[in-house]
Amino acid sequence: MTTVPSPTADTRWRCTLCGNLTRFDVTRSSKVVEYVHLDLAGEPKVEEREVLSETIESVRCRWCNAVDKIELVDRPGADS
Ligand SMILES: [Zn+2]
Repeated sequence: MTTVPSPTADTRWRCTLCGNLTRFDVTRSSKVVEYVHLDLAGEPKVEEREVLSETIESVRCRWCNAVDKIELVDRPGADS
């Protein structure tokens, strides 16, 4: 469904239109289990969160607003 590749330990996102490397709006859907701890007043607080699955649905560049125009490039210092 998604066309956005996931960054790895050696790679990072780059906007193919403007070259932005650092600022993106990521739309992500995830299935999580939360440990909710309520205090005596009933105020909930999530103390643990386990991610069961996660999908990146789209990535929008904060600079030029291009959607899903993302490629992977090497991180600085990564040996290729
Ligand atoms: Zn861009």
